[in-house]
Amino acid sequence: MTESHTCMLDEGPLKIRLAGIVNESVTDGPGLRIALFFQGCEHYCPGCHNPQTWPFQRGNEYAVAELLRQLPDTPLIKGVTLSGGDPFYQPEAAAIIARDFHNRGKNVWAYTGFTWEELQNSGDSARINLLLHCDVLIDGPFVQSLRSLTLNFCGSSNQRLILVKESQEAGKIIEWKPYDKG
Ligand code: SF4
Repeated sequence: MTESHTCMLDEGPLKIRLAGIVNESVTDGPGLRIALFFQGCEHYCPGCHNPQTWPFQRGNEYAVAELLRQLPDTPLIKGVTLSGGDPFYQPEAAAIIARDFHNRGKNVWAYTGFTWEELQNSGDSARINLLLHCDVLIDGPFVQSLRSLTLNFCGSSNQRLILVKESQEAGKIIEWKPYDKG
């Protein structure tokens, strides 16, 4: 850990449960990133690489405001990746983290086992709010029969790297390409 971040938020007692934190990841999105692995997932994808993240009561609990104070904030960090598990099972806390990283000038990537369409049509305001706080959403479950080692930042070819704002504005899915910023 390097510099500590001066958190401008007062998020009170809101808690988050994480399976792990990687402060310098180069595999969870472009550039050097903080990766937060959320605890809890009910997608139960066969072949999941992180089944230890499935139970909601495992992992470690953090106060969101304290976690944000502890995460490094340096110019080398390009963004944060919300992974898991599935951050969309803790959408309120995840959205606060996303907002804080945007305030730091960083980008936000998020993985979910839900599809873009499922989130859009969920009627779940907290999940939709989190979606709108992401720059890139990697959507859909891991599908073993579609597994490929050649894909950028995802495990099976059904998963899409969706540019959230651009897709919202276009009314159709616009996918991130390696030459895109963030
Ligand atoms: S969504 Fe991700 S963490 Fe959840 S079961 Fe599927 S591959 Fe595993």
